[in-house]
Amino acid sequence: MIPRGFEYLAPRTLGEAVSLLGKLGQEAKILSGGQSLIPMMKLRLATPAYIVDINRIPNLNYISEFDGFLRIGALARESDLEASPTVISRYPILMDTTSVIADPLVRNQATACGNLAHGDPANDHPATMLALGASLIAVGPGGEREIPVESFFTGLFTTALQPDEILKEIKVPIPAPSSGGAYLKLERKVGDYATAGVAVQITLNGAGVCHRAGIGLTNVGFSPLKAKEAEAFLVGKTPDDPTIKQAAELAAGESQPFDDIRGPAEYKRDLVRVLTARALNRALRRAKGEA
Ligand SMILES: Cc1cc2nc3c(=O)[nH]c(=O)nc-3n(C[C@H](O)[C@H](O)[C@H](O)COP(=O)(O)OP(=O)(O)OC[C@H]3O[C@@H](n4cnc5c(N)ncnc54)[C@H](O)[C@@H]3O)c2cc1C
Repeated sequence: MIPRGFEYLAPRTLGEAVSLLGKLGQEAKILSGGQSLIPMMKLRLATPAYIVDINRIPNLNYISEFDGFLRIGALARESDLEASPTVISRYPILMDTTSVIADPLVRNQATACGNLAHGDPANDHPATMLALGASLIAVGPGGEREIPVESFFTGLFTTALQPDEILKEIKVPIPAPSSGGAYLKLERKVGDYATAGVAVQITLNGAGVCHRAGIGLTNVGFSPLKAKEAEAFLVGKTPDDPTIKQAAELAAGESQPFDDIRGPAEYKRDLVRVLTARALNRALRRAKGEA
């Protein structure tokens, strides 16, 4: 329970942080909320020689809409999302997500960017960002680059971020009118990681036909999954009960769960079916302004 010794560095600018990461290479780890990194260090699953703490870099805790996107800065905590008037009034799917992550103590420190950068398929934000069609702004020695969330998760605990890159911002397209989203997760007890979770974001046209659908799955594969077949099936259809039922079955078929302490794979696949149908119904009600 005691981490290996490490050198602690606290840069004051993003440029300084990036140049430290470039100099120190794979031996360095960024610290943001510390809610995943510190437990891993205590268990010696991570043994970085250097910690680059980005918490002293100013102006990275923003959550605001501008230029067509909701932008979430690297140091915006889960508790900031929960308290954000913009998120509360306009992004119910984000409220659903942040409020089921761990417990209030963890949420006071944990950042949404850290949640994605950690690359844990059990984390909740990845599915939601896949459903929302977000992109991620990484800053490195060559400047900034934008990574679509679809290509961000490259495997178990691995992402498209290079060792000398910092995830600076999550960029969520501002949903079109008649859009609605929902995130549902089954956990064994409050504060637990998901046995399975499903995020859904849909947009309807004037005739009530699904114009866009995003579906992300939590903890049913070695990385967060996008249920592409279910998404494609929904587009161009009126999301009535039979359509929702079939989309939910497609999403279940796209999940890749495995047996573990949270249950057998077959159970989790069925859970994806049930949660997808429920999340679609809730997203639909929200898109129609009924919930
Ligand atoms: C008891 C407990 C229960 C939890 N339950 C849940 C849960 O139900 N659902 C859930 O989603 N999460 C859960 N978590 C995880 C929590 O949300 C983590 O905090 C989150 O996954 C990581 O965010 P962080 O800011 O704490 O990152 P850190 O722990 O600081 O970092 C995690 C990893 O990401 C890297 N990193 C962090 N920030 C950046 C960045 N800006 N750019 C590049 N790399 C970065 C770090 O180097 C490290 O490798 C739980 C944690 C605890 C302790």
